[in-house]
Amino acid sequence: MPDRARRLLLLGGTAEARALGAALADAAVDTVTSLAGVTAAPLPYTGELRRGGFGGVEGMAAYLREQGIGAIIDATHPFAEQISANAVKAAARAGVPLARLARPPWRPGPGARWRDATDIGAAIGMLPTGAHGFLAAGVSAAAVLPERPDICLTLRAIEPPDAPLPQGTQVILARPPYDRAGEETLFARLGVTHLICKNAGGRAGRAKLEAAAKLGIAVLMIPQPRLTPADAVLDGQAAALAWARAQL
Ligand code: NAP
Repeated sequence: MPDRARRLLLLGGTAEARALGAALADAAVDTVTSLAGVTAAPLPYTGELRRGGFGGVEGMAAYLREQGIGAIIDATHPFAEQISANAVKAAARAGVPLARLARPPWRPGPGARWRDATDIGAAIGMLPTGAHGFLAAGVSAAAVLPERPDICLTLRAIEPPDAPLPQGTQVILARPPYDRAGEETLFARLGVTHLICKNAGGRAGRAKLEAAAKLGIAVLMIPQPRLTPADAVLDGQAAALAWARAQL
């Protein structure tokens, strides 16, 4: 029987969380990984997995107590603002330390043409008539697409959207990771003029930016939101392992 008071809750849903889950298992840290349950068939995780929301701050605080969670690492996507804010509050209520795995934002490299956009709707509003925008923003973007019959949009997502899409919008179902050559081929085939994406940082999403720079495609970048501070910020897997060992 594992010592329940020494368990780690890993908030996941990212490639970084999957890799960290495997490293924690190798280091024999008793870990339960939590996924929102948005993706019907998520990639396999090492160790124990739970899926679905906790039921807000109260629900998560109760879960922490019931499961004897001794520490939390938030390795969710930098744009998953709600779960990160809930985790800070729930951890404080349950008296559990919380660290966040940092994903520093991308910076424009040589040849990159970037402009900031406050959100997806604003970015689409910035597209000139006749543009073909490629939206690398996940299925949730489908719900906020404005009507722009004078442009083409391609939305890439893992899951198909369940709402009807505006005229001129097509969906490509695909799952990361993507490589630069594949991104270049795709953008060239579609005739993409603008890439719209969230500044998520991390290695997994870089290829699209490199491909855009190579092809001279303009980028409309949505900056990372400012999250409620956690007790600690971890700059990589080694720091996360050391922090977990120190807490449990
Ligand atoms: P969100 O807006 O921050 O969270 C919405 C609700 O979903 C939360 O209040 C929570 O429900 C539940 N939830 C989210 N992540 C969870 C987790 N890891 N475990 C258990 N419940 C979770 O989240 P989102 O932006 O929809 O993202 C959902 C998941 O997809 C996240 O885990 C994130 O890591 C991943 N993801 C998000 C993006 C993105 O662009 N936002 C991109 C790639 C991956 P309750 O309040 O009921 O607890």
